[in-house]
Amino acid sequence: MIQYSLEDLQTILQLDSRYYGFLDLSDPKNSELKELIQRTITALQDEVAHSYSMNIIKQHDGKLVPTKSDQPISDGEHIKENSCNTQYQSKDFKWGMSNETSSNKSVAEIDEVDVNTYCKLGHLHLLMYEHSEALSAYQKYMRLCEKYWEDHAFLYGIGIVYFEFRCFKWSIKSLQELLYLNPHFTCANEAHLRLGLMLKANGEFRTALKHLQLALIDTSPSTFTDLQVKFQIAHLYEVQNKHKAAKESYEFILNNKNVSLDLKADIYRQLGWMYHCVECLGEKKERESNALLFLQKSIEADPKCGQSLYLLGRCYAGVNKVHDAFLAYRNSVEKSEGNADTWCSIGVLYQQQNQPTDALQAYICAVQLDKEHRSAWTNLGILYESCGQLRDAYACYSNAIKRISNKKIGNGQEGNKAVFSKSSTNGLTKGLAQRVKFLESQLSQAPLPSITSKRRQLCSIEEAWNLPISLEINSRQQQQSVQMQQRQFGKNPSVQGPPPPYPHSHGSQSNPLPAKRSKDDGEYSVKNRTDHTTQNLSQQQMNTLQFLQQNQKNLNEQQDKLLHQLSAQNRQALKNSSSPGPTSSTSTSETISDRTNFGSEIISSDNIKEDTDANDLARIVSTVTDQKLKIRCQNISTKLSEDQGLNNYDGTNVSIKYESLTNCNDDTQNNFKDQKPKVEYDNDQESLPTFNIQMDSKQLLSAVKLLPVDEPPINFTITAKNAPPPAPPDCPPQRLTREQLLPPTPSVHLENKKNAFSPQLQEFCLKHPIAVVRGLAGALKLDLGLFSTKTLVEANPDHSVEVRTQVNQSPDENWDVSQAKRVWACISHRSHTTIAKYAQYQASSFQDSLKDEGDKGSAGSQVMSDSDSKDSVSNSNINLKRKRQKNGSKMLRFGTNVDLSDERKWKPQLSELQKLPAFARVISAANMLSHVGHVILGMNTVQLYMKVPGSRTPGHQENNNFCSININIGPGDCEWFAVPDAYWGGIHNLCEKNSISYLHGSWWPVLEDLYKENIPVYRFIQKPGDLVWVNAGCVHWVQSVGWCNNIAWNVGPLTARQYSLAIERYEWNKLQSFKSIVPMIHLSWNLARNIKVSDVKLFELIKMCLLQSLKNVFHLQEYVKSKGVEVRFNGRGKNEASHYCGQCEVEVFNVLFIREQEKRHVVHCLPCALKLSPSLQGIVCLEEYRLSELQQVYDSFTLYRTQGLGQAH
Ligand SMILES: [Zn+2]
Repeated sequence: MIQYSLEDLQTILQLDSRYYGFLDLSDPKNSELKELIQRTITALQDEVAHSYSMNIIKQHDGKLVPTKSDQPISDGEHIKENSCNTQYQSKDFKWGMSNETSSNKSVAEIDEVDVNTYCKLGHLHLLMYEHSEALSAYQKYMRLCEKYWEDHAFLYGIGIVYFEFRCFKWSIKSLQELLYLNPHFTCANEAHLRLGLMLKANGEFRTALKHLQLALIDTSPSTFTDLQVKFQIAHLYEVQNKHKAAKESYEFILNNKNVSLDLKADIYRQLGWMYHCVECLGEKKERESNALLFLQKSIEADPKCGQSLYLLGRCYAGVNKVHDAFLAYRNSVEKSEGNADTWCSIGVLYQQQNQPTDALQAYICAVQLDKEHRSAWTNLGILYESCGQLRDAYACYSNAIKRISNKKIGNGQEGNKAVFSKSSTNGLTKGLAQRVKFLESQLSQAPLPSITSKRRQLCSIEEAWNLPISLEINSRQQQQSVQMQQRQFGKNPSVQGPPPPYPHSHGSQSNPLPAKRSKDDGEYSVKNRTDHTTQNLSQQQMNTLQFLQQNQKNLNEQQDKLLHQLSAQNRQALKNSSSPGPTSSTSTSETISDRTNFGSEIISSDNIKEDTDANDLARIVSTVTDQKLKIRCQNISTKLSEDQGLNNYDGTNVSIKYESLTNCNDDTQNNFKDQKPKVEYDNDQESLPTFNIQMDSKQLLSAVKLLPVDEPPINFTITAKNAPPPAPPDCPPQRLTREQLLPPTPSVHLENKKNAFSPQLQEFCLKHPIAVVRGLAGALKLDLGLFSTKTLVEANPDHSVEVRTQVNQSPDENWDVSQAKRVWACISHRSHTTIAKYAQYQASSFQDSLKDEGDKGSAGSQVMSDSDSKDSVSNSNINLKRKRQKNGSKMLRFGTNVDLSDERKWKPQLSELQKLPAFARVISAANMLSHVGHVILGMNTVQLYMKVPGSRTPGHQENNNFCSININIGPGDCEWFAVPDAYWGGIHNLCEKNSISYLHGSWWPVLEDLYKENIPVYRFIQKPGDLVWVNAGCVHWVQSVGWCNNIAWNVGPLTARQYSLAIERYEWNKLQSFKSIVPMIHLSWNLARNIKVSDVKLFELIKMCLLQSLKNVFHLQEYVKSKGVEVRFNGRGKNEASHYCGQCEVEVFNVLFIREQEKRHVVHCLPCALKLSPSLQGIVCLEEYRLSELQQVYDSFTLYRTQGLGQAH
């Protein structure tokens, strides 16, 4: 056992993940500290190993038989995701005790390591940038520690490690949990920045922007500069195609004097490429010269950047400066040779110069470097087709299509890039699909000899794939990328396998396509290696060859001979000569180059964005300015010295130690002297008062007075402090039969008005996840005609309609853009129009279909009909193909979210709805949403939907899990799909698997995926006049069968279930940074004022919310006063809307922090106010209700005891 000095011990106790990025251990100044950390790591590892062997001995002696197998681990997926890293596994094994559990009991029984040891090991490894080891230790801690989330430095540390490994899913989860549990965390800004970057990569732009802005406003020290964050925000605009905003933001940063050279290089590169690509940035000629100028500036600022050189090449190629383009590409290859984009573009250039052989080789390099490179595959196909080698062309196109669908689905790790390329690949993919079909028919019809009789101009794709030069380049680059990936991500790189398989031959043709390669990976790699040893040139030979090739024009005889020799040795080496080679057929060259350009231009630009992301991430993470480092270290150390129960020690040692560590100068130290240390942990929870709903307000207030005010309070509605953060629930475990997976839909048919008003109807609805009330309109004599398109146009023709442009598909299918694969992501572009214009579209769409039907005659199958789609789960492929071809990818427009809230404009319509039974009415005393006190559009007001067949409302739960009412106006039907709320976690996970956000994304579940996950789905038709009741939390998606309108709104029955589901979602939304449009705290206070509650459970839930809220309000005021800030009473206007934070969009109740921003008074929550101004200087604190009033409401809200009446629900 190593002996530590007290000083060292204190240092070690203080170190944790929060120093990550602030402590440069490679700096000689810190060598002493580095040595200390290293020593501690070794000691802790020894401790773990010792305990492991002790346990083995004990087990052998039979003294202790722990009956536990490895705990059912909830975080199993974490482990799996990283299990490819063998290094980490072996380490884990060394530390591992397979028989541990998290229970305290076992800790006592076994000679075990304190779980915190693992956490500390994680921190120390992290600070040493030993990410694999850090991850291993952290994961161990997470498995063993029951309440791991209570340790916020741990959540931060593991979030950082996942981020470094690009495990975005898990990093996002950890960091979101951290910020949810403690928005005041010391490194909150670091967490927000990383969340912003990851969500940007995942295509969740709105949330990404929110996080980046929260990182930006934060004044606390950080590892990144403001300008770097601003760059990320500008880039966020760029990837959303907000080009003008992006350009302005980039230019704004450039105008700053402090912009670093690296950042300059990045900005010039982005600007240059935008000028090249984006038409709205000016006239073409000017854009072209700007593009060249900026890219050259970028290279000037960072001459080592292969990416900028590549883009420069692209721009030169674009203006036909072929020689300059080649030069730039070559430079780029030198800087970053493993770039498939560069090789693809070199291929394009060769192809344009009519050098098909060279083009072929370049493309082959590209696809060998990146087998997913769809533009290279496409270009290869075009090349082969132009040379009349249709079979090879067919193979390449097929690969291109496959790559597109793969890329869209299978990139969970890199996030949802599909967003960037959705629109751009659409046309391309369609063209490709047509091409493949055409070639398919050509190949199947043409007799075999006629295709091969012509002498082949190019070697076949299979031969080309085996060209040694490409193998050579490939293997070198692979080595490189292996090293790089291992360094960066610690993941096994994709191993070079056999060439991409040819598509299956079809029909009875005797194998018209080249023989399918059936070797497995292993066999191929052996062959690969042999080739390598026999054919490989030495590095020097390679260099010579390259030199000779580059100077082919000026070679003397001897050199020329050598060149030929080397070339021969390489068989068909890639000729880098800039002199034009032998000409080839030119007949189709023009169309080829056009198409080629189209393909590579669009697709490559996507790739660029992805690459830049990665670069930016790396750069941002690694850049630390010295000054900030010092400040931060000092800052954290002061905080920490009081945090971790170190007060017993002599504090001076600690600060001395840190001064020597970080070499802080006195000035920076003084800056932070007056800052109060933040306490990240509750060390003395026992001494803190407890709260319960039996307390009256006076007791509550005196208990709050015992709470410390050095820590800003955190606002929870129901969750107690240190409860686990909200998470989607597991699906019910019960295995369902096929019949149970397709349950009959609860439905009831109404005969008359009496039925409609019977209490049984409401009970029936509340009992089921979803219910159809058939014949409602008839029974109530509702005049549905008031909501017909004709009436609506007459009433308010210019009223606004939101339009969603969607692909027309049959109801249980959702295909990706290439129509090659069923997917979850659902395309839905948004625009706006008016009722009159939409009505015109709706009518003409109907007319067109009548014409179509007439043309087709009676044989035209009813694609959308119920009977047809019912069995489509088992539809054969042929059947699907037929439908798809027939539908094509016809687009349709869905008129949605038409706001009918205005009582003057829609009086007859709204008063007609008064005929509904109370529980279904828009406004009623028994509807929680009527107690909000202000309008929530579409929730406590009516919305209208105008549809043509195929209009889709993608999958969702209602806002804050409220119930909803939907009436079909007709004349056509709608088809509904619904999943009980207990299964929402399952659907959430499937969304994640499909790289799409459950809350923000637009998704259409693939039914087979749901059945596979044991998730039942209700499916039914809603006829005109039918009311659909969607119960709280039910997940549902709807598609219109015919032409129809629907009306819908939300209701909140006064039940415990509704209230608790609403609160649960309120908390989950908070964690996800998603705005809850029902202000639940405000609503709860209004409910307490307005209603009497006899349901015990509902009462307790509401009272709990009031308790937490009152406690928080009081605590907050105490905290604010302790900062010397006055709380001013402001009151509330009648029907004034509830408040949300202008930065993070959480509900702000009663205590508002106001700051003037751009001449507007913006409301902030406390965490955001503290970000802007840690001392709250310049911020006004307003109070909406007097404390006495809230106290009075709280105290008089009591359980209402009904006499003799049984309590329903
Ligand atoms: Zn906020």
